[in-house]
Amino acid sequence: MQMRLASSIIVKREKLVVAETYDIAIIGGGMVGLAFACGLSTMQLAKQLKVVIIDSNPTLKSTVHFKKDELPDPRVSTVTPATISFLKEVGAWEYVEQQRHAFFNQMQVLFNTNAFLVYIWENNAGICVVENKVLCSSLLSSLQECPMDDQSAVASSDSISEWSNLSSAVKLGLSDGQSLYAKLVVGSDGAKSQVREIAGIKTTGWNYTQSAVICTVEHSIENHCAWQRFLPSGPIALLPIGDRFSNIVWTMTPKESSNHKSMSKDDFVKAVNHALDYGYGSHPKMSFLDEYIRRISSISGQGTVSMAEPFEVPPIVTDLVSERMAFPLSLRHASEYASKRVVLIGDAAHAVHPLAGQGVNLGFSDAAALSKVINEGLQAGADIGEISLLKKYEKERMAANVTMMAILDGFQKAYSVDLGPLNFLRAAAFHGAQYIAPLKKNIISYAMGEQKWPLFL
Ligand SMILES: Cc1cc2nc3c(=O)[nH]c(=O)nc-3n(C[C@H](O)[C@H](O)[C@H](O)COP(=O)(O)OP(=O)(O)OC[C@H]3O[C@@H](n4cnc5c(N)ncnc54)[C@H](O)[C@@H]3O)c2cc1C
Repeated sequence: MQMRLASSIIVKREKLVVAETYDIAIIGGGMVGLAFACGLSTMQLAKQLKVVIIDSNPTLKSTVHFKKDELPDPRVSTVTPATISFLKEVGAWEYVEQQRHAFFNQMQVLFNTNAFLVYIWENNAGICVVENKVLCSSLLSSLQECPMDDQSAVASSDSISEWSNLSSAVKLGLSDGQSLYAKLVVGSDGAKSQVREIAGIKTTGWNYTQSAVICTVEHSIENHCAWQRFLPSGPIALLPIGDRFSNIVWTMTPKESSNHKSMSKDDFVKAVNHALDYGYGSHPKMSFLDEYIRRISSISGQGTVSMAEPFEVPPIVTDLVSERMAFPLSLRHASEYASKRVVLIGDAAHAVHPLAGQGVNLGFSDAAALSKVINEGLQAGADIGEISLLKKYEKERMAANVTMMAILDGFQKAYSVDLGPLNFLRAAAFHGAQYIAPLKKNIISYAMGEQKWPLFL
């Protein structure tokens, strides 16, 4: 039977009937868990599954549209064209479009040697900055519009208190004393995943001894460009979020992050302007190296990208308009994404450094891949908790995620060490990429989530 997972159903079914049986229990209704539910709801057979989303987040019980005149939340994600296509397919993008979001089709990357790269995306195929709460509410709105089994539900719980493996299902006890059975448990419960821990899936990874300070800032003019500047302690990024607002993601040591969180608002604004523009030498100019590479690449017929775009100075930050939040950064990867009746998606499977804004984009690709594999399994008459089916998802996504993780970790390592004179070579290598069409195209396609391997790594 097909019915809408309407908000009335969400509220009505908030209390679970004791020990109800579901096809799928999604533990964690963050961006990736909701995206997976949306993915299922658009598949011919998977949409008939009886699904429960378990999370204590109260916003899951209703949908809220965030007004464009509210100040932007500091938690934002850069979403790639690949993610936007997925969000369109599952019907969530139309809700994002009704709320605040900001496309940018130009990004300026400045290295601490004063070398710079300018990326320009053509045909409006830019990257979009969206507040995380807007992504969640849009996915939820889409779920409410999609045909799903009328027994599907949202349950409020922040932890699993009991887990028993039975032959055809897992029995779960929830923190509020309720229990349920599920043929498949999907762990979308973030980097500290309890599902992963209970399933005994090990992780490899390390802490970066870096934290990211994030916040929303205001300028006196509208900002349509993204900037990233690599500083000795880590990169600072300025991402447009619409109107005169931008989001700051500033990586630094944990001690620096607590200082920057507690300093006065005025001092913080000064520090941001200093980091983005002043304080690390004069503005980059066309150098002899630029001119040399430009000539070589135009001789080799590299077309329009052989010309250097001028470096633009970031707009001055005039005010801090949100709280400052700090996140310790780490890399973590699950040794397996699937075991019997359990599968991991999103940060539960892989957590990456935010320097290239790829984390949730990888998670959305997991959500798309897993819903497709489950639908194909149903078409073939398989048990959706069967490990051989779930391993198809693992095989597809692990290769892509590990590649991206290696690239991001390489970036992080290359830019966290001050190599003195080698900085020049490091910058020159990247600088050269600016002028070599296939290389530049490759870097751009990597940033856009097209999952091609950058040639320079
Ligand atoms: C500073 C910073 C900037 C970032 N910027 C970007 C960016 O620009 N682009 C990008 O792609 N990515 C970015 N990321 C990464 C991105 O935020 C994560 O990849 C994304 O949030 C992962 O989503 P998720 O749904 O897998 O996990 P989460 O967002 O962590 O959601 C997990 C959900 O599970 C729930 N939960 C947890 N445990 C339980 C439990 N036991 N029972 C029930 N529910 C539970 C939580 O309440 C939560 O709702 C950034 C990360 C950081 C730290």
